[in-house]
Amino acid sequence: MRSPRDLPSVDRLLADERLAGEPHELSVAAARDVLARARDELRSGGEPGPLVDAVLEELGRVRRPSLRRVLNATGVLVHTNLGRAPLATSALERVVEVGTGYSNLEYDLEAGARGSRQDHLASLLCRLTGAQAALVVNNNAAAVLLALAALAEGREVVVSRGELIEIGDGFRIPDVLARSGARLVEVGTTNRTRTSDYARAIGPDTALLLRVHQSNFRVVGFTELPTLPELAELARRHEVPLVDDLGSGALTTLGDEPTPAESLRGGADLVTFSGDKLLGGPQAGVAVGRIDLVERLRRHPLQRALRADKLTLAALEGTLTLALDPARASAEVPVLRMFHEPFASVHARAERLAVLVRGEVEETVARVGGGALPLAELQSAACAVEESLAESLRLGEPPVVAVVRDGRTLLDCRTLTDVEVEEVAAAVVAARARADDGK
Ligand SMILES: *Cc1c(COP(=O)(O)O)cnc(C)c1O
Repeated sequence: MRSPRDLPSVDRLLADERLAGEPHELSVAAARDVLARARDELRSGGEPGPLVDAVLEELGRVRRPSLRRVLNATGVLVHTNLGRAPLATSALERVVEVGTGYSNLEYDLEAGARGSRQDHLASLLCRLTGAQAALVVNNNAAAVLLALAALAEGREVVVSRGELIEIGDGFRIPDVLARSGARLVEVGTTNRTRTSDYARAIGPDTALLLRVHQSNFRVVGFTELPTLPELAELARRHEVPLVDDLGSGALTTLGDEPTPAESLRGGADLVTFSGDKLLGGPQAGVAVGRIDLVERLRRHPLQRALRADKLTLAALEGTLTLALDPARASAEVPVLRMFHEPFASVHARAERLAVLVRGEVEETVARVGGGALPLAELQSAACAVEESLAESLRLGEPPVVAVVRDGRTLLDCRTLTDVEVEEVAAAVVAARARADDGK
């Protein structure tokens, strides 16, 4: 039995040739940690293992990325906890291309002078939505905040009580409104708001009418909300803008999700939406609409703080370019591909997985998630395996996140690709082997 005094010094430990190529400060810190743990072990009567191996392991742990790829076997397409929308290959290629070297991010190549990062995507967004102008920021929460700050600071914003919603992770419309410096004027009730409610609330201090899409819930039964054209007509009569926060930003019709183009055609003056919900691109927020309003957003000081970076712009441009060709977008934008994939082909994937891991195919219901189409049920299929594997699958490499239900782990195949199914099969085999080792 050794005592703590027998442990080598940091320098002697680091003299081992296996640690020769490691950066000095990092290995000193790792060696100190390993020696401290070894001292504790010896004091409590244990026997520390080989110290150099422990240092190498510690160095590996420090270098292992925390943000990692995971396999989504939950059947939730836009999974808020799992990074929302996976990117299309061609969008990722744009990120690599633009990020690898320099770019014309804020350089006008024709004029040979300073340009604006907001100019690159504007014409694509206008073409796709029919808007006069467009602006991109970091996420849709930022787009809403910027719109309210630029158009309504110190003034009143009229919102239906049925639309004072929470999106998730504490993003609440009344709070964002307060932060923007605007004053909230609530009208109507939770289930019923009429055009006349809005009309009564409009006064000299009214800056705009705000409509918020009920993204992640629906009110059913005795309900009433004015149509967009009705609200637009009211807004026009009182010469105040109508701002429509859509949330998900589907560019083509998906279920009953409104598109930005429909919203603008219906009379909204400014429309905001996310880049990474049903648009299927990177995290981003887009505001499209009347040129004078978008210009006020662009000139507001917060725009500088909320603007998107070049990698986001590159990924969004790549995604929007695909959206110009809806058939191609449905095949290549992952969120859209998963949404449209026929049940039979999802089922075939589940059968293949079941054969590979000796599981059972079970019919499931996949969901859009991410606060979009909350009632949409996508017929799906999963491979069911032992419940006890769920944790081990999560802790494996790559991690697999699945759903535990009725005593089984369900691996939903709507959110897995054909290639990923092979990886999930290998992960199940590895998890079972680990379980056997542990016995
Ligand atoms: C999701 C959502 C937001 C927030 O968008 P992020 O891109 O998550 O910032 C705002 N408004 C509505 C209606 C939404 O659905």
